Amino acid sequence: MRKVMGVLAPIMVIMVAWALAVKAESSIDAIQSLIKVIPYVIALLAIFMSVWYQNSNSFYLVCFILVSYIFISISKNHFPMLTEAVTMLSILLPINTVWLSFSQERGIFSTYGRNKAVIVSIQLIWVFINTMRKSSIAVTQDMISQIFIGIKAPAVVLYILAVGILLSCYILKRRYMDLIYVTVLISSIIAFYFSNRILLVAIFTSAIFVIMVIAMFDVSYSLAFYDTLTGVLSRRALEQELLKLGNRKYAIAMVDLDHFKKINDTYGHDIGDEVLKMVASILNSTFSKAKVFRYGGEEFVVLFTGKGNKEILPQLERARKAVECRPFILRSDKRPDEKQNKYNKYSRGKGKINITVSIGLAQKTELLKSCYDVIKKADEALYKSKNGGRNCVTSI
Ligand code: GH3
Ligand code: MG
Ligand code: MG
Repeated sequence: MRKVMGVLAPIMVIMVAWALAVKAESSIDAIQSLIKVIPYVIALLAIFMSVWYQNSNSFYLVCFILVSYIFISISKNHFPMLTEAVTMLSILLPINTVWLSFSQERGIFSTYGRNKAVIVSIQLIWVFINTMRKSSIAVTQDMISQIFIGIKAPAVVLYILAVGILLSCYILKRRYMDLIYVTVLISSIIAFYFSNRILLVAIFTSAIFVIMVIAMFDVSYSLAFYDTLTGVLSRRALEQELLKLGNRKYAIAMVDLDHFKKINDTYGHDIGDEVLKMVASILNSTFSKAKVFRYGGEEFVVLFTGKGNKEILPQLERARKAVECRPFILRSDKRPDEKQNKYNKYSRGKGKINITVSIGLAQKTELLKSCYDVIKKADEALYKSKNGGRNCVTSI
């Protein structure tokens, strides 16, 4: 549901912008003045959020688009200047968007972040100088009556390429920000197309900043409620979920990797991390109707609402088997460097690591009043699975 909303929200913003754009030019002067100021207000919010989350890619993209809006506003009454600004900006924006989407996130004010600032500033200064050079050209009546500025062919090609690249990345890597960048590009091309109608530029520029703000809220939500390593829900999300349970029927399963410390000791922490990710993804796909949380370290909690032990046990057994039957495949490029450490005896040829999990299950009963009692019972059941030889499911 959240994922669907994440996709729909930026599309809805563009649709709302479109609906507003239709009416904007016939609105009263006070509203028109307000519309022109809104991009600055939302841009400030987007800049504040990107600084707060140290998101340099969003920060520099917002700054570039804000300065672009200022350039268009300055040159709005001078057609040659406006055409020059729009031509240059519409070429630079798709390039910058793809560049920033691939660029590593290493803070805004770090050396790496400052390099981004230099690149963006040089571009904007170059646009400014070229735009100002056109100020001496006289404006003819023909120019004034133009309804659209239009977008030059190179910019159209770059836009198509950028949208193609970003959409492919979104489909292949499921990076939410790539989808956000696509919608930013769509909104920006509309703004450039109507760039001699400043109200429309203001509305679609505001839409871009609203989309960026939504994206940053989404990222902060993910950081709080999703485990960054495995991608499953975090312990904080579990605590919130437990508060909602009340008197409903539910059961909790604790899933713990067997001898995981040995995997870390033998193959290294990085491989351990990959193993954790793989197990999390198996659990997530096996329990499509339950919620999987990373409880901590190599322990996961699965929360089943509206179900009792009897219905859940076969599912847990299936998950246990799924993990057992899918060994982690060691690829040579994932292995630790032969020269530098003790793991070099595992560095030759391909190999696999067999993984198993032990599971403990407990359900809410009259005696187990609070969810923490149920978790404690599930932990006891897990302990029994461990003592019973591991790689098994125990329910209490
Ligand atoms: P048991 O079968 O009894 O559960 O044994 P175990 O080795 O799995 O359990 P133990 O509690 O002794 O060790 C858990 C290990 O998990 C120790 C810790 O270094 C490792 N670990 C915890 N979190 C992470 C993580 O995020 N990444 C990696 N690679 N290792 C982790
Ligand atoms: Mg363990
Ligand atoms: Mg453990």
